[in-house]
Amino acid sequence: MSGDLQGALLDWFSRSGRDLPWRRTRDPWAILVSEFMLQQTQVDRVVERYTQFLARFPTPVALARSPVADVIALWSGLGYNRRAVNLHRAAVTIDVSHGGQVPDELGDLLDLPGVGPYTARAVRVFAFERADAVVDTNIGRVLARCHRRRLTPIEAQRTAESLVPRDRAWIWNQAMMELGALMCRTEPRCEECPLRGACEWFRSGCAGPDPAHRSASVSRPQSRFAGSDRQGRGRLLSGLRAGPVPMGSVPTVMGWPDDAERSLKVAATLVADGLARRNEAGFELP
Ligand code: SF4
Repeated sequence: MSGDLQGALLDWFSRSGRDLPWRRTRDPWAILVSEFMLQQTQVDRVVERYTQFLARFPTPVALARSPVADVIALWSGLGYNRRAVNLHRAAVTIDVSHGGQVPDELGDLLDLPGVGPYTARAVRVFAFERADAVVDTNIGRVLARCHRRRLTPIEAQRTAESLVPRDRAWIWNQAMMELGALMCRTEPRCEECPLRGACEWFRSGCAGPDPAHRSASVSRPQSRFAGSDRQGRGRLLSGLRAGPVPMGSVPTVMGWPDDAERSLKVAATLVADGLARRNEAGFELP
């Protein structure tokens, strides 16, 4: 990509990038929390909860030494509650193995529960300003469309790395991510896009199938929520946040009053994920 196009993207980000709370800090713990919350949850919903969460758990040690039930309770409304348990486990590892400080080495970050290649690099770039490249669903979409083909994970990561200006990794990664979130969306706004001069798909007139479909890191449409096991899990967890749920009430709380077998089977997955505990009377938060 030419220097002019790189400059155009950075100029666009300076004008159009959103002012988000995690873009105002380099605190590694705050960045790690934001990345956990942003996995599969919309930005608007995370903004509401992020400040509240950090006020309650300002450091990894504060979180590690709190009951996991407190974290699950505060995670309410963010969905995908397993992330709350993993964040608690990650905080315990940071407390026990890293003296309470979020590590900056890629391998150490990847060893934290719930931290994959994207989140590990996001912490390095957005907290420590390392010259790494992140590939999330937004950047994955931009890269695939610019190359006009589906990319493998290795291709996407290497391409992203080849583009990062070494002295401006933080802003470059933010700008690429923002471009995918605001411009290169499912319905792209190519006429306004600062990268259209480098985009093969745009040059082709956006002909043929969308190259981002099934390309590396690009998320797929979620399956229906209504009537799903996820919905039942969410309902039981909401009930547990209010207090223990007796065994006989579990099917009703989960919305399946006539299907005790399914209710107990799905409730068992909450226990397996560390989100609930089963006792003789029923279920409770761990
Ligand atoms: S020109 Fe269109 S398809 Fe290409 S990167 Fe920009 S918004 Fe995406």
